[in-house]
Amino acid sequence: MSGFEIKGWCPGALRPMESGDGLVLRIRARNGRLTPDEARLIAGLSSRHGNGLIDLTSRANLQLRGLTPLGHAATIAALQPFGLTDRDAGTEARRNVILSPFAPVGGPAWQVAEAIARAMTAPDAPKVPAKFGFAVDAGTAVLTDVPADIRLRPHGTGWLILPDGADWALEAANPAEAARRAVALAHWFVQTGGVTEGRGRMRNHLRRGAPKPGGSVAGTTRPGASATPGPGPATNGWIVGFAFGQITPGQLEAAAALGPLRLTPWRALLIEGATLPRIPGAILDPCDPLTRVHACTGAPGCPQAQADVRALARHLASRLAPDQTLHVTGCAKACAHQGPASATLIATGRDRFDLIRDGSAHDPVTRAGLAVHDLPAALAKACPQ
Ligand code: SF4
Repeated sequence: MSGFEIKGWCPGALRPMESGDGLVLRIRARNGRLTPDEARLIAGLSSRHGNGLIDLTSRANLQLRGLTPLGHAATIAALQPFGLTDRDAGTEARRNVILSPFAPVGGPAWQVAEAIARAMTAPDAPKVPAKFGFAVDAGTAVLTDVPADIRLRPHGTGWLILPDGADWALEAANPAEAARRAVALAHWFVQTGGVTEGRGRMRNHLRRGAPKPGGSVAGTTRPGASATPGPGPATNGWIVGFAFGQITPGQLEAAAALGPLRLTPWRALLIEGATLPRIPGAILDPCDPLTRVHACTGAPGCPQAQADVRALARHLASRLAPDQTLHVTGCAKACAHQGPASATLIATGRDRFDLIRDGSAHDPVTRAGLAVHDLPAALAKACPQ
């Protein structure tokens, strides 16, 4: 496996990350929703100050790429009046809440996510690590596979608060109590030693034998893994996909012309109220093989990348069987996809890839050192048609 640098934090708006193509600035839209004006503003900022590449991230955020330090400062100044930044980078990092894009605006799940974000940006918020986050479902659970330390979902007439990796839960009678108990659980995580040297995840903390907090309910039924919603109609609009979750300012403007946007953790946009949106280059067909392919930024955008993985992923996509998935990653860090795929290819050189069948980038390698011209045949064996 190739070496890679673990930064332990994600870029934000106020704390951008240096990458191979300049600064990467991440925008955390409140409750994952952008008005058409906000979306048009962001598209313009990407054109003026970035390199015209915008990422849809697996945490339901937007990333502008290719900014200079001066462009970054101008972008922050433009975002501030719209409430798309926080008072400092630490506060921004704690506002890590993913809301189901299907949650009605102003409804119970919306209120829960809003109250958690408010509490986590207050001066007395728990000092959780940068990647610590919450996922709030509404109705049918769709966020069960989304990385989160504390999950919340409606249950009967109330709410369940589910720590990641626990066989117990907390209960709440209403949205306000659900948010309060979730934030109290984050305090408990910090106070019981969940954070070491600025890092820590709930699942690992529980695995190390952290004691249950008072009031927990044992044996609560958890929803199983949820199918990732693909492009197509949704209850509140239409989901449109984009290859590898990357969009252009033109595509963002075209989407904004159709309605408010909900950012999804599936690297797709949900356009509220839209029917069959026409956006150049968007994926509207749920059977498009590119919906089953993950590929990170790769070379030349990422300095840690060993190869241009997106070009290769596009080339290989048409060879996938209908039920197969492919993950091509520029190094073993696997930023684009932490889960398993039918075939995972890790670049170890410009023309060298390790193949892992039916596993993730962290599983044992099935075949090492394959050249690009070997990949179609190796993939055919990994993904028999
Ligand atoms: S997985 Fe891809 S984007 Fe992430 S560090 Fe490695 S090469 Fe860069």
